[in-house]
Amino acid sequence: MEIRSVGVVGAGQMGNGIAHVMALSGYDVILNDVDGAALDRAVEIIGRNLDRQVSREKITQSDKDAAMARISTTMEIKDLGQSDLVIEAATEREEVKQKIFDSLLPHLKPETILTSNTSSISITRLASRTDRPEKFMGFHFMNPVPVMQLVELIRGIATDSETYDACLAVVEKLGKTAASAEDFPAFIVNRILMPMINEAVYTLYEGVGKVSSIDEAMKLGANHPMGPLELADFIGLDTCLAIMNVLHDGLGDSKYRPCPLLSKYVEAGWLGRKTKRGFYDYRGETPVPTR
Ligand code: NAD
Repeated sequence: MEIRSVGVVGAGQMGNGIAHVMALSGYDVILNDVDGAALDRAVEIIGRNLDRQVSREKITQSDKDAAMARISTTMEIKDLGQSDLVIEAATEREEVKQKIFDSLLPHLKPETILTSNTSSISITRLASRTDRPEKFMGFHFMNPVPVMQLVELIRGIATDSETYDACLAVVEKLGKTAASAEDFPAFIVNRILMPMINEAVYTLYEGVGKVSSIDEAMKLGANHPMGPLELADFIGLDTCLAIMNVLHDGLGDSKYRPCPLLSKYVEAGWLGRKTKRGFYDYRGETPVPTR
């Protein structure tokens, strides 16, 4: 089962990164979003990120031009129907993803592999509501996609080995490394990472430390390249909250209770870098802690 063309649903921070690396590795990419401005922004960001790779001599100008030429955009989900592989990378809400699959399925070729970049939602449950649970799996990139080496590949209960092998071959062609994860809430990376971020928010909520001391402490004391609150802003606080809710609901253990302060930031619409405010305020020259 050879993959040549890839449809990407959702042109946010993950969708544009996925389109970027796929096009650079020679796949034809069609990028879909319900928001036309998000599509324009995605193409601009991909162009800028490829330019950066050209200036660092990681790729040539002609690699960039060829990659850009392989990317097209559409607001019509049916245009993804002929893709060999579809990666859904829309907002982390199950009802959003469900609606996308419902509207996409009638247009798909029978052999198309359908995947989700979800950080936490059950692959088996998403798969069970499609016409192809054996050709459905989790294809979980890390942020920022062009930089991060890992892709988690998650098999649902019904996923067949041809589907897994075809996705593994794509990961290898991208020059990335796959980690195989079983389909339990939040898989491997976020099962470990998100409780740490949530604990950092509790540490802030309880007044143990301020934003800057918490981040400094983990950078200098645990040798993390980025503090947990800085990282949460980078991921998106809505995504962090959604993942904590999935862990809490799915595993039923109070140790996964989302911090009320995390919910408060999300209620305020302070979602991190993407809205220019989160645990830091990004509206000026340098980020300023908001607590
Ligand atoms: P984002 O908010 O940056 O982008 C989501 C995009 O989906 C938006 O452009 C939105 O317009 C679009 N969208 C919403 N409904 C849609 C629909 N019906 N059809 C088409 N597009 C639609 O979010 P993101 O950070 O890119 O996350 C996307 C997915 O990737 C989520 O499932 C998330 O869990 C996962 N993920 C995120 C990260 C991260 O660090 N942010 C890492 C790995 C995986």
